Amino acid sequence: MTCLEAQSNIMAFVDKKLDDDKISDFVRHMKHCPNCSEELEIYYTLIVGMKQLDNNEELSHDFKKDLDDELTKLDNRVKNAKRFKLSTFSVVFIAAIIGFFFFYSSTLNKVYNIEQNMIREAQGEYYFYNHLSKYIEICHDDVIVEAKERKKPIEKTFYQKVHSYNITHPVWTEIEY
Ligand SMILES: [Zn+2]
Repeated sequence: MTCLEAQSNIMAFVDKKLDDDKISDFVRHMKHCPNCSEELEIYYTLIVGMKQLDNNEELSHDFKKDLDDELTKLDNRVKNAKRFKLSTFSVVFIAAIIGFFFFYSSTLNKVYNIEQNMIREAQGEYYFYNHLSKYIEICHDDVIVEAKERKKPIEKTFYQKVHSYNITHPVWTEIEY
């Protein structure tokens, strides 16, 4: 902050209307620049003193001390607000990181479980076929045999054979009276 900027903010400071984002620079300048701080002190004494007289208040005994207190108080308020913002931001940021970490690890766990299940299933199928295929084949053969049996013509009795032969080969004999 230049001397010109600092001095143009003196009235706003005295009226307690200085913007928060200018306070730190203003206070730092006033603590290190003798010219500006002298000017500030003159204005502060003049205006605050007049206000005190107007309001029938007791006139301050040490305007310089009042001014220093006021500057320090304002500066601390702004610094605390900044610190609070920063800490709020850190808390949110850390929470976001932790949240992301939990999400990431739970996703990893899910992927791991899916993979493990796939491996287990593959092993299960392998185990199943490796150890039970004999029985499966037996069952399979049984089914085939059964199906063949079903297709086989049913054995006819001797009488049935004669009967069907007679139907297909009718023998007509003429009987003479
Ligand atoms: Zn200055």
